[in-house]
Amino acid sequence: MKETDGMKAKELLAYYQEKLDEEARQAKKEGRLVCWSASVAPPEFCVTMDIAMVYPETHAAGIGARKGSLTMLEVADRKGYNVDICSYARVNMGYMELMKQQALTGEVPEELKDSPAAKVPLPDLVITCNNICNTLLKWYENLAKELNIPCIIIDVPFNHTMPIPQYSKDYIAGQFDEAIRQLEEITGKKFDYDKFLEVQKQTQRSVKEWNRVAKLSSYKPSPLNCFDLFNYMALIVCARSLYYAEHTFKTFADELEYNLANEIYAFKGAEKKRITWEGIAVWPYLGHTFKSLKALGSIMTGSAYPGLWNLEYTPGDMSSMAEAYTRIYINTCLENKAKVLQDIVEGGKCDGVVYHLNRSCKLMSFLNVETAEIIEERTKTPYVSFDGDQTDPRNFAPAQFDTRVQALSEMMDAKDA
Ligand code: SF4
Repeated sequence: MKETDGMKAKELLAYYQEKLDEEARQAKKEGRLVCWSASVAPPEFCVTMDIAMVYPETHAAGIGARKGSLTMLEVADRKGYNVDICSYARVNMGYMELMKQQALTGEVPEELKDSPAAKVPLPDLVITCNNICNTLLKWYENLAKELNIPCIIIDVPFNHTMPIPQYSKDYIAGQFDEAIRQLEEITGKKFDYDKFLEVQKQTQRSVKEWNRVAKLSSYKPSPLNCFDLFNYMALIVCARSLYYAEHTFKTFADELEYNLANEIYAFKGAEKKRITWEGIAVWPYLGHTFKSLKALGSIMTGSAYPGLWNLEYTPGDMSSMAEAYTRIYINTCLENKAKVLQDIVEGGKCDGVVYHLNRSCKLMSFLNVETAEIIEERTKTPYVSFDGDQTDPRNFAPAQFDTRVQALSEMMDAKDA
């Protein structure tokens, strides 16, 4: 009998998150390599090489959700990191500084003693990819410089036109080859292509189950509140190349399908309006944002952000894998981004859209201003935006959020009147 037998999806999510952190700590203790990775960089190469993985964006999100990000941000502030840098990066730099201090002195710094931050070890190498933003290049270069460790960069061109040209896919496939060469050099081991194929197949099984969950919000009423995707995202980011993600998402999709068949809906009969949330969650205020919308009967049935990990490709085909890692909607032209979002709004049968103008995430936020008008024009759905930040609580005002979503609720009602 396995420890996970009979666990609900929510329990599996917590169990595997803790297991991943423990595996990284154990690897460090045993002198095996630990890699810190950008969230949409391909994990397939490091997993094939048995390298333990830690994902700073998810780690920072967890710290934010547990109300511990301000402490890390203040450490980064004191080190001179500018407040205009993405707060995921600043939370991570703060954590890295404290862990470095601990390694040097052997003493746990005061800021870490009471911190809710998951205690993950410092990396022996980092891997990053600019398929969601260029901040990730400078952030990881900085980590590598501060810790004097290797940095693997998968450089992905921005897609100004669609479909993605073959030369672009070839260029990215070349980056993959170079990452493999670097890993062989770092580990002193030959890359096992047979194992790599199995890792790719596992990744595809995880993605398939993730997509199965996401599609369930198209039902009206919906068995799924997409706020849950924000929580479950931790595993599509950190464990998509492992069985952990597939197992959890399959269990979750089965539970939701059971609920749908038995007319058990997320809002239990109180679903009044359906909205798309465009952008990252406000982690320190996840509960507040969810409750404010719920009080208005507004359920989230659309969100493009979790779709960043819809990384479908053909195992064994590097060009296909290259395409999956570059067609991320925020790495494409405005026209394509608008098309993706329109499909989300229509697929989720949404009545309105909430745009998070995220001070951290410049690219997403700047594009949102234009996207909002295009989507309103095409789908005739009203929208509102609010100012926020995914992990810097100083940049979010609950009262502003509440008045904006109240206004959206009124606009949605007025449209039906
Ligand atoms: S939040 Fe935005 S700026 Fe920060 S790492 Fe993610 S994509 Fe980049």
